[in-house]
Amino acid sequence: MKLSLTPEQTAAVEGARAFARARLHPRVTEFEERGVPKELVRELGDAGLLGALVGDEWGGRPLDPVTWGLVTEEIGKVCCNTRYILTVHASIVAGTLARWGSAAQKSEWLPRLARGEALAAFALSEPDVGSDAASVRTCYEKTDDGFILRGAKRWTSLGALADVFLVIARDANGENGRAVTAFLVPRQLAGVRVEPIRGMMAARGSHIAELHFDNVKLSRADAVGRPGAGFTYVTSTALDLGRYSVAWSAVAVAQAAIEAMVSYALRREQFGRPLQDFQLVKAMVGDAVTDTHAARALCLHAGELRRAADPEAIMATNVAKQFAARVATRTTAAALQLHGANGLSSDYDVERLFREARVLEIIEGSTQIQQLLLGDYGLQTYARATGYP
Ligand SMILES: Cc1cc2nc3c(=O)[nH]c(=O)nc-3n(C[C@H](O)[C@H](O)[C@H](O)COP(=O)(O)OP(=O)(O)OC[C@H]3O[C@@H](n4cnc5c(N)ncnc54)[C@H](O)[C@@H]3O)c2cc1C
Repeated sequence: MKLSLTPEQTAAVEGARAFARARLHPRVTEFEERGVPKELVRELGDAGLLGALVGDEWGGRPLDPVTWGLVTEEIGKVCCNTRYILTVHASIVAGTLARWGSAAQKSEWLPRLARGEALAAFALSEPDVGSDAASVRTCYEKTDDGFILRGAKRWTSLGALADVFLVIARDANGENGRAVTAFLVPRQLAGVRVEPIRGMMAARGSHIAELHFDNVKLSRADAVGRPGAGFTYVTSTALDLGRYSVAWSAVAVAQAAIEAMVSYALRREQFGRPLQDFQLVKAMVGDAVTDTHAARALCLHAGELRRAADPEAIMATNVAKQFAARVATRTTAAALQLHGANGLSSDYDVERLFREARVLEIIEGSTQIQQLLLGDYGLQTYARATGYP
């Protein structure tokens, strides 16, 4: 099926490509070394790249899911650190707030997030809680006029730069300790402490941080969605939006790896011939192309289902994320292999792409968690299809 885009959709994708080429490509190394600067967030906002999930009434520039995926791909092909802004700020936080936020939260935050005047981060993972996200230990206590928040979050992308955090916490006194609420926590509140995490293998320019909440006073209006229902609704929406974005990011990294492979295979000569002449090299390129086309097709399929608000969209997104993340790993590994020793050098893009690909099998549901989830889904769906009671 040929992808057909309207002139508006084409303009959005081409705009992202032009932005990536002009504003990101020359600064990829600088961003890796120093982190993406705050001014970039404003620039992305001005270019209309942060308001895709925000309605016009809140100052957004809404895009349908397929176009948003293609835009994410264009940015992710060039700069993964910038792409985290699209995934975390524009997809996870702005998208979740647009869906579950109160009118007051939307009018306070969405225009600023869409314009890039404020930067948002998503704080779910903790030092001792990762895949088992429903067991967060960061907790809140209800007070007469709001909540007191306590605990720590870890691995928060953009955390060291963000102005506001979407924090997932459990009710300290709730039944079975399972009632979970999402809060919007402005960084400047008393008791919020941010510690940058250094020495990451990837996402080096994404300001990953550990957050501490030491008896932070929140008002009732800071809860996002119904208190106690923060996992089923808010967190699930955030993770679904994050997975869709990460699936496209994986396709982006794989595409960039293929481009690097081909360019190297054309130029590098051994045994008196360019690498492209060797059949084993062709096999590597052929596998990478097949894998990446398949991953992209799954992302497009998920995007079409999301556009149609089809209930299967969530599972299609999981399938796309699971497949695309693994494709990114094996395609970047093949690209690195094809570069020989040069593949290990930061003079070549494949070294960075290889590192960035590894993250995608860990975040937004690791490969193993996705296997379990998709295994359950497969067993249920195919048991029904085979008529098994
Ligand atoms: C670059 C980067 C950015 C991130 N950004 C954010 C962010 O912005 N916000 C945020 O909240 N978090 C963020 N995270 C954290 C990320 O969401 C977690 O790393 C992820 O959920 C996995 O949790 P964990 O690392 O604690 O691994 P664990 O959950 O401790 O898992 C360790 C290993 O065990 C496997 N495993 C776990 N449970 C099972 C099981 N039941 N069966 C089989 N295998 C299992 C996992 O697949 C993994 O291989 C980020 C992480 C990275 C690396």
